[in-house]
Amino acid sequence: MKLTNHGYTFGGVPVTELSKNFGTPLYVYNADVIRKNYHTLKNAFSGVDVHLKYACKALTNINVLKILQQEGAGLDTVSIQEAKMGLRAGFQPNDILYTPNCVSFEEIQEAVSLGLIINIDELSTLERFGNEYGGSVPCCIRLNPHIMAGGNSHISVGHIDSKFGISIYQVPHIKRIVDNLGIHVNGLHMHTGSDILDADVFLRGASLLYEAAKSFEKLEFMDFGSGFKVKYKEGDITTDVNDIGQQIVDSFKKFCLEYGKELQLWFEPGKYIVSNAGHLLVDVNVVKQTTSTVFAGVNSGQNHLLRPMMYDAYHHITNVSNHTGVERIYSIVGYICESDTLGYDRKLNEVRVGDILAISNAGAYGFSMSSNYNSRFRPAEVLIQNQKAVLIRKRETLDDLLQNQIEVDLV
Ligand SMILES: *Cc1c(COP(=O)(O)O)cnc(C)c1O
Repeated sequence: MKLTNHGYTFGGVPVTELSKNFGTPLYVYNADVIRKNYHTLKNAFSGVDVHLKYACKALTNINVLKILQQEGAGLDTVSIQEAKMGLRAGFQPNDILYTPNCVSFEEIQEAVSLGLIINIDELSTLERFGNEYGGSVPCCIRLNPHIMAGGNSHISVGHIDSKFGISIYQVPHIKRIVDNLGIHVNGLHMHTGSDILDADVFLRGASLLYEAAKSFEKLEFMDFGSGFKVKYKEGDITTDVNDIGQQIVDSFKKFCLEYGKELQLWFEPGKYIVSNAGHLLVDVNVVKQTTSTVFAGVNSGQNHLLRPMMYDAYHHITNVSNHTGVERIYSIVGYICESDTLGYDRKLNEVRVGDILAISNAGAYGFSMSSNYNSRFRPAEVLIQNQKAVLIRKRETLDDLLQNQIEVDLV
């Protein structure tokens, strides 16, 4: 978002025009930012054969998938449904990595029949996979390097108590299963979480994977997952992708030399690609003065943006209707019957009933985690390209809420 003389614009479109034309609550995404983020990250790893698999659980609107397909990305999916969305969007099956956790073996079989790249994160599943397919279907193995990414265990998935991946200490057991059943392991994978701040943590995980790679002769790629930290507020420490990129490239080149083959280097960014490409626009319903604070109550809440409640995440909030108003302190809360605070003690230009607030960094894990709790409709979605906004998901109706309900004769 940019502040011009005439107020805030996003992708060249005045933000209040977006809310006027499409209503609120509204998710807006800027296609140019998505494309730019993709290339910034890809270029940070120049010098090796790098492939980015967009972790689509961050934002699955089919138009966003198509944008990334156009740019040359692959897809990282965590469910068969995400993979099928990817196929609909035009991805080839062998561009889609399927990285499930605790799914049924039947779902993995379906993924094989669709031709997806299979990532296995559990020993008994690996064994079953080998019994079923032998070496006829290659698979990648998800290792847990037990690296603690950042301080927030809600986000961190590589630590000792995590349910994800096969422990790096179990490589000898993996090797046994692989050798006995003739499994073709084509890749090794780790994803330590979403809070990695510096190259050191990444490289520590990487070196553990390099060590493990010595046990597998037919590797084609190494997948270092994600963990790129994005800026949520001024002063946040973020991943410097160019700095981390060149350090990883150097270490990866050295590894390939030792391994005796030039492997592909894969990453699975979600947040990095779409987080700052999206805002959630909401309307102020109520300004409520209490004995301790002023609440700005908006027509949205944890049903539309769960991250503040679920992860205690900070999302910057701007009053886009009154950019010249004096600043005051507010708590911005939702209309859901839970204490769904979107932001505590925020300095905003004076908020009046009817003002539009923009909640930033809403591209990743915004709409995709939204629900119909309190029987509220989920927001509509809009895409901005070339300074034009188009609707990419219409607003729900009461019929949508009742669509799959079956009214029966009550006795
Ligand atoms: C969620 C997830 C990602 C993406 O994480 P971000 O923090 O959004 O970049 C990547 N890989 C796997 C396996 C995931 O589950």
